[in-house]
Amino acid sequence: MFVLGLFSDRVAQVPKSGIREIFDLAQSMSGVIDLGIGEPDFNAPNFVAEAAKKSIDEGFGKYTANAGLLELREEIARKLRQENGIAVDPKTELIVTSGATQAIFVVMNCLLNPGDEVLLPTPLFVAYKNSAALAGGTSIEVPTLEDEGFALDFEELDKRCTKKAKLLVLNSPCNPTGSVMKKNAIERACEFAAQHNLHIISDEIYEKYLYDGARHFSPGSIAEFRGRVITINGFAKTFGMTGWRLGYAAASSNIVNSMVRFNMYNAVCATSFVQRAGIVALKHSLSFFKPILTRYKEKRDIACDLLDRLGWDYQRPRGSFYVFPRIPKKYGRSFSFSKRLLESNKVATIPGSAFGDAGEGHIRISFSLEKQKLRAGLDRIDKFVK
Ligand code: PMP
Repeated sequence: MFVLGLFSDRVAQVPKSGIREIFDLAQSMSGVIDLGIGEPDFNAPNFVAEAAKKSIDEGFGKYTANAGLLELREEIARKLRQENGIAVDPKTELIVTSGATQAIFVVMNCLLNPGDEVLLPTPLFVAYKNSAALAGGTSIEVPTLEDEGFALDFEELDKRCTKKAKLLVLNSPCNPTGSVMKKNAIERACEFAAQHNLHIISDEIYEKYLYDGARHFSPGSIAEFRGRVITINGFAKTFGMTGWRLGYAAASSNIVNSMVRFNMYNAVCATSFVQRAGIVALKHSLSFFKPILTRYKEKRDIACDLLDRLGWDYQRPRGSFYVFPRIPKKYGRSFSFSKRLLESNKVATIPGSAFGDAGEGHIRISFSLEKQKLRAGLDRIDKFVK
């Protein structure tokens, strides 16, 4: 119920998301196949679950440092150095958070003053726009070049970057487009940031979901620009730990210091025994992920095969687990298409408009489902269209 004057302006302006409406409708129906899903199709591996159980049995349930357990930060620093080429001091340049989402929220709150602008290459994950709004900032959407695989459009970026711009968000591999930024585009984005005195938030949560030889590159690995980059990552997608809520941010010590102070009055710390499980997760070999990636590539191909059959226009995803096709014009706006698809053929997708203005005219299809279900869901789209 809306009560006039009850809510802060910050909260009142955060729009009810299109995702929520489709999700609520899907929940009220039976037999729905959910192609809107935003999480992996596997659970946390046993070695991670066992570590959490052991920590609980040992009574490891007290607060940790606001920045997270030092042992976990040391493991994260090692991971960032070895896998991403990012050098960070675990004592001063890392904060452990309750998921990447909280890291995004905290960093926005630490860096934005009212009126400060955040440049968002769109289509892009919704949390950025809404976190910026809750922090009092203003989002400036920068449409990407769809025909070039949703590549960053530097001309548009330049046009839309004002003196108030403070942050540029990069999300590669990208939710919802599946695009993976090339190294030279990331270097150019860093140079742009330096010229305009911006900081870059680099959300790398899908870094392990890469297809067709695509390579992940972290802007934080470029020594020259390291101080401008806030690298955000987490355990949700690589380790199937979405509900465990564990993530982190790596940045210069002054930024991390402010995030730790903010965190004292926000989450206080990430869940203690989950942090312990995180140490074990990172120490373990990543070989468990190899068959998962093979499976995801096959599922990506299954989704693309249907789109080829339908003759829809789409960019083949090179990363993440989403494909973001254009819906033919005759179907109207993305929200009404998703809604009709759900109501008549019981398959849930996310309307592209949820990812910014540039997402209108698309839907996001997640292929993070068990193959048989994925095929059945895609068949329902096929039938609806026919
Ligand atoms: N960033 C992106 C791009 C995402 O798609 C998601 C989850 N859908 C997150 C961050 C959130 O990650 P976490 O569960 O660690 O908060």
